[in-house]
Amino acid sequence: MRVSWQERFAETPDVLKSAERLQTVIPVLDFTVGGDEFITMAGPCSVETEAQLIETALRVRRSGARILRGGAFKPRSSPYAFQGHGREGLKMLAHARVESGLAIVTEVMSECDVPLVAEFADILQIGSRNMENFSLLEAAARSGRPILLKRGMMATVADMLRSAQIILDNGNTNVMLCERGIRTFETATRNTFDVTAIALLKQISHLPVIADPSHAAGNRDLVPALARIAVAAEADGLIVEVHPDPDKAWSDGDQSLDHDAFDAMMASIEPYLALRGPACSPRPMELIG
Ligand code: PEP
Ligand code: MN
Repeated sequence: MRVSWQERFAETPDVLKSAERLQTVIPVLDFTVGGDEFITMAGPCSVETEAQLIETALRVRRSGARILRGGAFKPRSSPYAFQGHGREGLKMLAHARVESGLAIVTEVMSECDVPLVAEFADILQIGSRNMENFSLLEAAARSGRPILLKRGMMATVADMLRSAQIILDNGNTNVMLCERGIRTFETATRNTFDVTAIALLKQISHLPVIADPSHAAGNRDLVPALARIAVAAEADGLIVEVHPDPDKAWSDGDQSLDHDAFDAMMASIEPYLALRGPACSPRPMELIG
């Protein structure tokens, strides 16, 4: 007999769909994540300069993005690489919000910084490297801000759901689950985009699912195709790295789209969104076995 999803993920009951909760809809500024609208978050990997940020914010807004991304605290692979502007970067993000009307998502790396980042950001991003930093999860949850929880690069779906459950246990149900690629034996791409996880999460969890094609691919040429795949897999939204001049980006330039490429990507997902129709509306988890 096949094991039901409820049994398989019994450790994290509150993140699973139930008769009472089919879909979490998260209010952010004047829109929602997890509702009818497909939400795109876009912007540079790192906040670099005020001019770069505002220019990108205005452009991505015009192409349909709702949320500006940009790191002020950067978890870099090298300790000698740019680590982010910290508080100054947060101030630039806040200014970009005023100028563009976009909401802000930005990473918080340390529990000590939660109050500071929560003061400036509409959504707190928990990065891949911190998905199992449980004290950070607890502090971020208690800030009351919605959380974008990125999947650890070596985390299973069950591991990610466990981290989400911890956030819920700390009184915050506004959690978005983000698939950003995992490490596999494949080295041609930065990570392997686990589209199965997106389909699975949409099947079993009421939490909105966001796809990050940029960190999955590590290469801008692949980002639009992965974005379209995420739409077809019924993700609730995207987070995409965009830079006015990607070859000069201070981090993750290889995977960043320039403004025109972002416009083209946004146009290219439209027909796929139109095809989804009612198939995307919340539905009960299929009981198996
Ligand atoms: C980022 O969003 O720039 C980032 C560092 O992402 P991840 O935690 O998925 O590597
Ligand atoms: Mn990045």
